Amino acid sequence: MTIKSKIRTIPHYPRQGIMFRDITTLLKDPVGLRMMIDELVSRYRGMKIDKVAGIESRGFILGAPVAVALGVGFVPIRKKGKLPAETVGHDYTLEYGVDRIEIHIDAIDQGERILLIDDLIATGGTAEAAVHLIRKLGGSIVECAFAIDLPDIGGAQRLKQHGVKVFALTAFEGH
Ligand code: AMP
Repeated sequence: MTIKSKIRTIPHYPRQGIMFRDITTLLKDPVGLRMMIDELVSRYRGMKIDKVAGIESRGFILGAPVAVALGVGFVPIRKKGKLPAETVGHDYTLEYGVDRIEIHIDAIDQGERILLIDDLIATGGTAEAAVHLIRKLGGSIVECAFAIDLPDIGGAQRLKQHGVKVFALTAFEGH
């Protein structure tokens, strides 16, 4: 059994031409779910992580159990208007239009070592915005971890240009 074999692909969702990599089939499988979390935990156990930050919403599903297993706290990075206390935000460009993600200003302390987690990296636009927010609060990014990389789209390369290390459990060719 591999993590990749448990990920379902839905062609042309949510739009024509997109191959949607659906992790719900991995999440519902107890062996697959544990394998995914355990692989991330064993990679980061020795890396002196202070906090795990997860990107809404699938980054929460992976990030929170990893944080628990590492014995550290979890920080949500959310779409605009969802966080109740004072936030700092970053706008980023999508294929059509602009989006914004936000973080609580007291979520990260100066110098903390942060592991950033999301389910998938495509263009890297979302993760890049999250990297900006974490750095704005004084956090240092140990690595960005994803279940899935789509290397042909180039998001991991984009993050590396910001001096950020990138890790993914599996990769799919194409878009
Ligand atoms: P991006 O900012 O382009 O790297 O997009 C990353 C975000 O969009 C992630 O939070 C993914 O959940 C979602 N996403 C983008 N492309 C796909 C895809 N082909 N399959 C599943 N999710 C995707």
